[in-house]
Amino acid sequence: MQKVLERAGYTEITPTASVDTNRHGGRAKCLQRLIRLDMPVPRTLALDFDTVREISLGKLPDIPSILGLFDRPLLSVRPSSEDADWGGPSAILNIGMNNEKHRKLAESHGEDAANALYLRFIRSYAIHVARLDPDEFELTGASDGRALEHALTIYEEETDEYFPQDIGDQLSEVLRSMARAWEGTTARLLREARGAPKDAGLGLVVQEMALGVGKGPSGSGVIQFVNGQSGEREVRGRYMARSQGRDALVDKNEREVIYLAKDERGPSVEDRLPAAYADLMRYGDLCRNRLREEMQIEFTIENEQLHILDAVRVSRSPRANLNIAVALAQDAIISEEEAVMRVPPRSLTEMLHSQVDPNGPRDAIAKGIAASPGAATGKIVFTSRGAQALAAQDEDCILVRRETTPEDIRGMHAAKAVLTERGGITSHAAVIARGLGLPCVVGASSIKLDRKNKVLRTADGRTFAEGEVITIDGSAGEALSGAAEMLEPDLGEAFQTLLSWADNARDIGVRANADTPADAAKARTFAAEGIGLCRTEHMFFEQERLLAMREMIFADTPEDRRAALDRIEPMQRADFIELFEIMSGLPVTIRLFDPPLHEFLPHAREGMVELADALDLAVSDVTRRVEALSEFNPMLGMRGVRLGVTVPEIYDMQARAIFEATIEASKTGAPVVPEIMIPLVSAKREVEIVKSRIDSVAAQVRVERGVKFDYRLGVMVETPRAALRAGEIAQHAAFLSFGTNDLTQMTYGLSRDDAGRFMGQYVSQGVYEEDPFHTLDIDGVGELLQMGAERGRASNPDATLSICGEHGGNPESIAFCRNAGFDYVSCSPFRVPVARLAAAHLAIHDRGAARSRVTR
Ligand code: PEP
Ligand code: MG
Repeated sequence: MQKVLERAGYTEITPTASVDTNRHGGRAKCLQRLIRLDMPVPRTLALDFDTVREISLGKLPDIPSILGLFDRPLLSVRPSSEDADWGGPSAILNIGMNNEKHRKLAESHGEDAANALYLRFIRSYAIHVARLDPDEFELTGASDGRALEHALTIYEEETDEYFPQDIGDQLSEVLRSMARAWEGTTARLLREARGAPKDAGLGLVVQEMALGVGKGPSGSGVIQFVNGQSGEREVRGRYMARSQGRDALVDKNEREVIYLAKDERGPSVEDRLPAAYADLMRYGDLCRNRLREEMQIEFTIENEQLHILDAVRVSRSPRANLNIAVALAQDAIISEEEAVMRVPPRSLTEMLHSQVDPNGPRDAIAKGIAASPGAATGKIVFTSRGAQALAAQDEDCILVRRETTPEDIRGMHAAKAVLTERGGITSHAAVIARGLGLPCVVGASSIKLDRKNKVLRTADGRTFAEGEVITIDGSAGEALSGAAEMLEPDLGEAFQTLLSWADNARDIGVRANADTPADAAKARTFAAEGIGLCRTEHMFFEQERLLAMREMIFADTPEDRRAALDRIEPMQRADFIELFEIMSGLPVTIRLFDPPLHEFLPHAREGMVELADALDLAVSDVTRRVEALSEFNPMLGMRGVRLGVTVPEIYDMQARAIFEATIEASKTGAPVVPEIMIPLVSAKREVEIVKSRIDSVAAQVRVERGVKFDYRLGVMVETPRAALRAGEIAQHAAFLSFGTNDLTQMTYGLSRDDAGRFMGQYVSQGVYEEDPFHTLDIDGVGELLQMGAERGRASNPDATLSICGEHGGNPESIAFCRNAGFDYVSCSPFRVPVARLAAAHLAIHDRGAARSRVTR
């Protein structure tokens, strides 16, 4: 019999029927599981994907024989796609209601119940099947006879037909409209955006209605056993009593809605129907233990008799999802690895930062690139100095700039969030903000900054003056007017537990990009396995250091330069000692100075005057010098190793500071083996020159201090030529770290600071699939990485390979680096948890695939 039904395109769901998620959809499969668990599910049929596809083309299954399988008079049809997240047409209930049944129901169960059921059916049939205007069928006021009459009249006027009375006709039309809705363009685009394949199918389940109306205690409800926001175990849901007459289930105030669990506010199912309530509790436990999931159960009670109509996964916040997964694993219901796999890596971001409450009011005033996640509220300031002044008064502020430069670092430290008019995902503002964990929106090109009048103008003509409050939503890439409602971050115990399970599973290292002791401390909090990139130039924006640096740049003679560097060296040494101590034995990669020198010089006249004062020079001297150092294209100018080759004293000073810090930190803590990294290399000879100087500084320090120490010298591969010549470069390098920010910039010939202006258009027109500064370009930049890694490894098999560009924290880039045999990825501290989890997903996924190959 079962086989016959299957051939007809539908299957009665029984414990042994052949029902598959990939043929009948997840809901059908879930219903079968409930039936196997002996839950009282009304008789249900599953229509498979092929059948539904045929229905959409006009070929209906044998409706009379379907109807013949059911005993009860009313039916429901619900969608059953392979993955519930792909959506589907709305369920239609009470199919079969007509004038005759309405009359009988009114006699047996009362007018109210009959009117409500019929009216609901007319409404959903009119809207979803006949496609009439929903406003016309708005359920306002009572579901009395007049409302019913009205709905039927509108239906007839709009369609020129009587409301269908035959259950066969009704069911045919419902099936047809649901099948067609699935094939519609909007539905297809929507589900494809949620990851559904192009040919995703829809199954349908047809079920006898257990109405939840009766002479005795009756009603309908949904119940779940966890809180969907927090993930904590608690009974939640609602129950609507629907009994004939005003029986015991109506509370003192004649309200019909009562509570599920005991509640002092009114009568509860637990009080009044203890047996049904106990069964619901038992079914909740069964779902959790056997379906290994927290489910929301839809049920009805008819004359005290419980029916389970459906169960779906409880919809939940990312935090609840994590807490639920950890609790299930701790109760040994799922494995630790499965818990890890149930948490999408990017969902952690929400837990690490404050978020704008999605349910609160939202008044967006600008849209840009979501450069650093989280949200913060504060008063607008337009200068770094303004930010520092407000921070000194303990006032929260938002730094709003056309774009930021290294001079803004202190302002960024003082601000709660940053908004820039220009810039892309790897622009200065974006990189620094991610490092600091500050919410940041860059490239908000619709705003105009009027610095003279200290106002920000938005595209819709509004103005916001300095001191006015705004909110930056760095996760959505928006600035909002006023103080938005917030959800605070909270790294609970479950978060740490899940990440420790992820660490057990993963097979690629995760380090942090950290420039300051505060960053390093954050890196440790997030269990980074070391520092993969310390951008030393970021250590130089404190007032005192900046001045010493400027003196060094302005020095006319080697002696003057030496004197300035001698002032800087102890500061650097102290920085490194602190970093080594915080990281206590974990590897620390220190990158030698990278940026163009002129970035350390003031740009505004104010700053020039200040500098002239400090150095006892004429302002004109300062201006001339700044002009002489300025370059047309500084990103491709005197920066990185070029500075090391032409002004070698700077790298000498840094090397000495590193080695002396190594000796100091090793005295008290674990032995330190510093990793020194040379930036912007494009030729082997650059490495040779720098290496020989650093080796000789090391030799000098060893002799002077009489102490032995080791260090590793490596190269940052961030120019296309370095990737191409990685073979010969690796011969002189203990490690190669790929700087994908510059590598992307140079491979595309695309300025990382200016691309924001047109990137939106480029992506929306499909020129680039994604912003390549955001998502690693596997085809182009990726080929250079692959080639560089292979050539580097071939000539130096011991070389450590890693990535330290901003892409290092993206799950897709981690997959690429893992496949290319990299040893670790390095990313901003706040992205470390996401990277740890993403790496674990990849390893577990691969092991699963390998296991299934063996068993096949
Ligand atoms: C890079 O270029 O990828 C990199 C990490 O260095 P920076 O962003 O400091 O140029
Ligand atoms: Mg770089």
